[in-house]
Amino acid sequence: MIVGGGFAGHRCARTLSRLARGAADIVLLNPHDYFLYLPLLPQVASGALDPRRVAVSLTGTLPGVRLVLGEADGVDLDGRRVTYTDPEGGRSTLAYDRLVLTVGSVNKLLPVPGLTEHAHGFRGIPEALYLRDHLTRQTELAGASDDPAERAARTTFVVVGAGYTGTEVTAQGVRLTDALARGNAGLNGTYAGAATDAGEPVRPRWLLLDIAERVLPELDRRLSRTADRVLRARGVDVRTGTSVREARRDGVLLDDGEFVPSRTLVWCVGVRPDPLVESVGTPTERGRLCVDEYLTVPGHPEVFACGDAAAVPDLTRPGEVTPMTAQHAQRQGAVAARNVAASCGRGEARAYEHHDLGFMVDLGGFQAAADPLHVPLSGPLASLVTRGYHLAAMPGNRTRTAADWLLDAVLPRQGVQFGLVRSGSVPLDSAAPELARVPAPGGG
Ligand SMILES: Cc1cc2nc3c(=O)[nH]c(=O)nc-3n(C[C@H](O)[C@H](O)[C@H](O)COP(=O)(O)OP(=O)(O)OC[C@H]3O[C@@H](n4cnc5c(N)ncnc54)[C@H](O)[C@@H]3O)c2cc1C
Repeated sequence: MIVGGGFAGHRCARTLSRLARGAADIVLLNPHDYFLYLPLLPQVASGALDPRRVAVSLTGTLPGVRLVLGEADGVDLDGRRVTYTDPEGGRSTLAYDRLVLTVGSVNKLLPVPGLTEHAHGFRGIPEALYLRDHLTRQTELAGASDDPAERAARTTFVVVGAGYTGTEVTAQGVRLTDALARGNAGLNGTYAGAATDAGEPVRPRWLLLDIAERVLPELDRRLSRTADRVLRARGVDVRTGTSVREARRDGVLLDDGEFVPSRTLVWCVGVRPDPLVESVGTPTERGRLCVDEYLTVPGHPEVFACGDAAAVPDLTRPGEVTPMTAQHAQRQGAVAARNVAASCGRGEARAYEHHDLGFMVDLGGFQAAADPLHVPLSGPLASLVTRGYHLAAMPGNRTRTAADWLLDAVLPRQGVQFGLVRSGSVPLDSAAPELARVPAPGGG
């Protein structure tokens, strides 16, 4: 039984299904019926990709694997059972002989006043759809307002965290809001009665904050320089060494005392392991389940864990654990599958070891910062390599994704919002950012 159908879980299920060739019952428990290709999520928020492109059908790509829709909420290691809640609220139990825990991570919070009320995270499709609609709606409301202060606040977007998520959200987001503002008569100066001060068009303003001294602080400095240059060329106000002291309904108070009027605060400061990990009851390291290099939980040879949820020893950097990246999660999933098979008498168990192959940050519009095999690239070549890599790494939807990119290169972005995912459906403090929260009957 595999709990979690993300990078690690999907690869584990696929490899195990190939190795078992029908000789094992493989069950995958996941709250939704798709594998989420997270690295392209910023492109959903900016309207470059349709959300279904990054959602790859689990049943369609995992032949021979039984999908059970549900969210695990308890693991009984002695009784070898997992309890879960299905999408209709029903509670059930599944028994296992071998268990692989790959539940990933959720938004990391910090004790900043007002944060959970006024900021949104970026970890799932509901949050990406909310942000896309929100950016569109704020630009439209700004265009309809006669009040210059309100217009400025609505067209000011603050992103906290300049890791790859925050950097991509900003780089891609600015392209969307620039396009929307250019096409909005209330903002582009073409409406005669428009309250654009002195007839000047209003250009949306993006701020990218990080406490670190450079963007992409965890990556190679050359990638940081490329990303910084592209962001600044697009007019982004990059503030390193800066963070948020307080989040308010009408803006953000920075730690240097400046107040930035805004209606948008996107929280991309990182992730923490999924809360299910705490309930397992075995040792953890910085919230991640401790495992050995064979990905087994000490004392429980029938239980494996990998991906963001597990602290996997990094044999290439003794004393460290592997970082929370898709690159590691996917490969660990394959090794976990082999080791599960080995524990059942098929093949030999293998220790997990992987040398980092570099990183790719898609900045949109033929710009990227990448260092495949540690060769630094920028500009259109980096963009080409990055997109080629994503297409190769996706377990499905490749043609549709490539078609969206082609169309986006020649057609204007669609400036429409349905408002189906509202602010209250995507709270920052959520144990399940992959699901939109449904209000309780009668309020809540
Ligand atoms: C916006 C964004 C961009 C990123 N870009 C990159 C990138 O470019 N390159 C890179 O290497 N990494 C990137 N990452 C990091 C990468 O996506 C993660 O490291 C990777 O997804 C971890 O894989 P995983 O299998 O551990 O978890 P996930 O892929 O998150 O999968 C976890 C799965 O478990 C399910 N689940 C959670 N809780 C439960 C439960 N209780 N019961 C059942 N199922 C559960 C989830 O719904 C999900 O399907 C990015 C992350 C984000 C958020």
